[in-house]
Amino acid sequence: FWTQIPGDGRAGANSRALFNAAQFVIPGGVNSPVRAFKAVGGDPPFIRAARGPYLLTEDGVTLVDYVGTWGPAILGHAHPEVVDAVCRAARDGLSFGACTAGEVEFAELLCRLVPALKGGMVRLVSSGTEATMSALRLARGFTGRSKIVKVDGGYHGHADFLLVAAGSGAATLGIPGSEGVPAATVADTLTVPFNSAAAVEQVLEQHRGQVAAVIVEPVPGNMGCVPPRPGYLQELRDLCTREGVVLVFDEVMTGFRVALGGAGQRYGVIPDLVCLGKIVGGGMPVGAYGGRRDIMQHVAPLGPVYQAGTLSGNPVAVAAGLATLQILARDDPYAALEATSAALAAGLSARAAKAGVPVVMNRVGAMFTGFFRAGEVHDYDDAKASDLGAFAEFHREMLTCGVYLAPSQFEASFVSLAHDAAAIDHTLSAAEAAFAAVA
Ligand code: PLP
Repeated sequence: FWTQIPGDGRAGANSRALFNAAQFVIPGGVNSPVRAFKAVGGDPPFIRAARGPYLLTEDGVTLVDYVGTWGPAILGHAHPEVVDAVCRAARDGLSFGACTAGEVEFAELLCRLVPALKGGMVRLVSSGTEATMSALRLARGFTGRSKIVKVDGGYHGHADFLLVAAGSGAATLGIPGSEGVPAATVADTLTVPFNSAAAVEQVLEQHRGQVAAVIVEPVPGNMGCVPPRPGYLQELRDLCTREGVVLVFDEVMTGFRVALGGAGQRYGVIPDLVCLGKIVGGGMPVGAYGGRRDIMQHVAPLGPVYQAGTLSGNPVAVAAGLATLQILARDDPYAALEATSAALAAGLSARAAKAGVPVVMNRVGAMFTGFFRAGEVHDYDDAKASDLGAFAEFHREMLTCGVYLAPSQFEASFVSLAHDAAAIDHTLSAAEAAFAAVA
């Protein structure tokens, strides 16, 4: 198909020409901002194809990929069983906007695999953004309360009321994190630092009877990967139960990533509602939200909380998601994934140490971030104290050596089942050179 020997992945003549053309017709030349490589400099390579752990650029260069389409590609790219399922579904019609057998089978499988969905119900949508937005509307409709508590540095998609950049401190009233978001829209969004149950307790006490939901990525990946402290998630569970607040786990990234049943299974804490995306669509646009039956019964047409979608439950997207989850449920590859990821993270840490570059390696299962700083990273403030210049240089060096990492310090990297010894060995020798260059 193409050479599996990774090469210099910096944008070559073809990628640069495409990026120039793109910038005339697409804002910033990209359809999602981080793809523009602003944080690391240089033009992004354009991608022509992907298979297994590798990307092929428009410049004809192979790269070892740790972005994994921002999480979904847990099986590696273009897994033959998933591609076959998509092709079969596509031949039967791309979209019906009507009920299908596939979506029932998919929902049943989700309810079997995800602890928060056991005995409950799930609704399919087309993105993680829709999942969190809809789950929080539901929490507000169910409780009759309007305030939402989120974590500083937690990303839940681009719905207006969730685009809040908060200062530090126990909790601050929301300030819009984007132009175009009216202050009134985020006035009910309260933020707290990650890993502090005390901060959540304080906010819930301050706003007793007014908070509809606490939403949290159980393992944040959007401030870089930050593990929850032991007991933190259970404390959130207990606080929410005590205060009649809906606990929402945003497992768009962690679902089927940190365990088959996601972070809920890994940490043994069951939220009231869970949001899914990324892996659940196997690379196609699928999201889902669901949980407690008594809450989900408030969703239209069963109840008064409206939510809909022309392409919700799209048969081709569902085929990709179903095939992906069936493979994961059948093969239960999480022990292997853990071993590969642990070896990679240890290898990276060892090479950073050898070069004398301070790096804190945070990893949960097959998601990890190396923060360029000394000292531990438990929340967004810790993450922000990283040496962003050193990260950017490391990123450029890795790309030059054929390794494609997320172009921001505040992103997680993802290991897939397709990352074999050759891919890992190549990554570690690239890292040796890259850390030496940064030192
Ligand atoms: N929630 C989390 C934890 C995410 O990581 C993301 C996307 O990165 C989203 C929600 C939004 O998902 P989407 O980009 O599919 O709208």
